[in-house]
Amino acid sequence: MGRLAGKVAVITGAGSGMGKEMALLFAREGAKVVCADRSGMQEQIAASIGDAAVAVHADVSVSADIQNMIKVAEDRFGRLDILCNNAGFGGKMMPLHEQTEEAYDNVHAVNLKGVFLGIKYGVISMLRTGGGAIVNTASATGLVGWKDHSIYAAAKAGVLQLTKCAALDYAQNGIRVNAICPGMVWTGLVKASLENPVPPPGTKPPFNVPMGRWGLAAEQANAALFLASDEASYITGVAIPVDGGYVVG
Ligand code: NAD
Repeated sequence: MGRLAGKVAVITGAGSGMGKEMALLFAREGAKVVCADRSGMQEQIAASIGDAAVAVHADVSVSADIQNMIKVAEDRFGRLDILCNNAGFGGKMMPLHEQTEEAYDNVHAVNLKGVFLGIKYGVISMLRTGGGAIVNTASATGLVGWKDHSIYAAAKAGVLQLTKCAALDYAQNGIRVNAICPGMVWTGLVKASLENPVPPPGTKPPFNVPMGRWGLAAEQANAALFLASDEASYITGVAIPVDGGYVVG
């Protein structure tokens, strides 16, 4: 029996990086998986999983896309048990006064409003079936200040507040809402990862990470799996740093 046997999961940003690893891992653990992304890459990931997965195009900043992705889970697999609001992007990193209002709106539309929409419509579905687990991908930047990351960090801090408040709103409805806070992870957000799927030996992250190395997408997926599974049945409203010790360093 897998750790998610019988569960139905929707994962956003499933076409790359952490979301891709979550989709593959959750399927290996017995879940049916809806792979949602706006890139088109979700089709390949779902195809590699087979009958236990379906791909759906979704831009998480668009309400109709979020509602459709939840409906796909319900229509294809009967219900929604797990929602990973994982899709996001960093935008350009620079001092705050050089950032534009347009960049602010774009980064927040996806990284913050996208999570709000996911929780809102995910919860509506889960309330119908008696509960579920939501795992939001925030960031270590939501916990501590990072130079040149103001807009992104503010959105990720917002994700943590959405997580805590939603955890309280639905604590008595069987819906747990938690977050992971990745540190520096070797994914599509890191340009060099496009040429090297794993960090070349000796490659160091740009900030001082106590463990001295990049994190891997699979390590984020492992944390998400725990929070999504019944093993975390008494855990709600937490933000787990998965960052090689960065935020305590
Ligand atoms: P990634 O680029 O490999 O994957 C992100 C995926 O999200 C892509 O497939 C992309 O197409 C998708 N996506 C982006 N905007 C979308 C939208 N509007 N609608 C639907 N899909 C969208 O990057 P990743 O590192 O795996 O990112 C996953 C999450 O982790 C993001 O929320 C990111 O902010 C967060 N994060 C990443 C790091 C890191 O170091 N890589 C650190 C902290 C947090």
